[in-house]
Amino acid sequence: YLNFFETKCKRSKELTDEAKKYIPGGVQHNLAFNYPFPIAIEKADGAYLWDADQNQYIDFLQAGGPTVLGSNYEPVREKVFDMLRSCGPVTGLFHEYELKLAKLINQYMPSIEMLRMLGSGTEGVMAAIRAARTFTKKKYVIKVGGAYHGWSDQMVFGLHVPGTGRLEATGIPRGANATTEEFFPNSLAKLKRRLVFNRLLGGTAAVIVEPVGPESGTRPVPYDFNQKVRELCDEFGALLIFDEVVTGFRLGLGGAQGYFNVKPDLTVFGKCITGGYPMAGGVGGRRDVIMTFAAGIGGVGEKAYVGGTLSANPLSCVAGYYALKEMERTNAPVIAGKAGDRLTKGLNAIIDKYGLPFVAFNQGSIVHLETSGVMLLDLRNPIKLAKELKPRKHMIEQMGAAYMANGLITLAGSRMYTSMADTDEVIDEALRRFELVLSE
Ligand code: PMP
Repeated sequence: YLNFFETKCKRSKELTDEAKKYIPGGVQHNLAFNYPFPIAIEKADGAYLWDADQNQYIDFLQAGGPTVLGSNYEPVREKVFDMLRSCGPVTGLFHEYELKLAKLINQYMPSIEMLRMLGSGTEGVMAAIRAARTFTKKKYVIKVGGAYHGWSDQMVFGLHVPGTGRLEATGIPRGANATTEEFFPNSLAKLKRRLVFNRLLGGTAAVIVEPVGPESGTRPVPYDFNQKVRELCDEFGALLIFDEVVTGFRLGLGGAQGYFNVKPDLTVFGKCITGGYPMAGGVGGRRDVIMTFAAGIGGVGEKAYVGGTLSANPLSCVAGYYALKEMERTNAPVIAGKAGDRLTKGLNAIIDKYGLPFVAFNQGSIVHLETSGVMLLDLRNPIKLAKELKPRKHMIEQMGAAYMANGLITLAGSRMYTSMADTDEVIDEALRRFELVLSE
């Protein structure tokens, strides 16, 4: 497959080589560091991407999840153009579409009594934690080990070595995450132990979970997991925060909270809230908690300050409103989910046919292809884990590159997001391409 990159991706190589002079690492996006070098995308439409050398790919990255309608979906794009012509990108003042979007989300997810829009999922998480601490007057925040909730000082740790508290990033002062704790994935007993302990030390303000399990469900949770976490939060007076940056509107318009039928106190949104348009994020939930932000806008009382010049700009709000309306009209989450089922079933058939020690599994339109045994790693032994991860990382990179050379874009060779644009024909063509790689 390296031959493909050498002979068919010349323009991408030129561009990304030059980019290394001006951009750290050559690309701006964490998901674009593919092996052996990044490709430069020129065109996106529905289920497909085209690179600068005119190679066509079936796109299962879908920007990391937000484009449930498929890439560059025309009816939403036209509404964005209309808004651009009438209002431009930003005024810094209120616009009707902020209200329309907040009302619509409240209709789909009744737990979102109020919504504060922000710029990204990272900001949404930061704001949720700030509101939770302000409201409960408690100190600790507990997350699932290995879960990603953005790159803020207090959250970006333990990604690779859950439970050890090892920092994932440098440049963070020790105290910044001293009140963030992790519990071993899926272990309600470990969560309870932390809640008990924290009660003596200033209390737990919030427990934050991605309801499908960390990393879009790479380590899936049992169906009743969220309900059990809800009960523990109630017992200890902690708020339950759902990170629905990926699942919100992808698993259904009611989000993962509808899917699992569990009501969080706060929900964090990201890229899905605008259907993939920029400045996408926010936090919504209980009126009494979200009102802690109101003091920052001339109110009185406790003040969980948040800001953002471009937050809730007219373009993002109009994109979000029409993306959700279109998802409702077209039933996109269900169609994308069926495509996910078809892809998963087909991948498992290929795995069986060649007797491979792999497995595919999905939750609707979120598909995991486990080829490197990451799920089998023993997270409790950090030294062994670090040793085992290295060769697996290389294998994951190689798988990703081999798929790409065969016209398939995945997230790190192991995760796929399907969209409404993935017709049966697209999925069947994708499976033919997957078989070319997996049979080797
Ligand atoms: N939480 C989850 C579950 C995510 O997947 C992401 C981004 N992939 C974030 C938070 C951070 O969102 P953003 O990139 O918009 O800051």
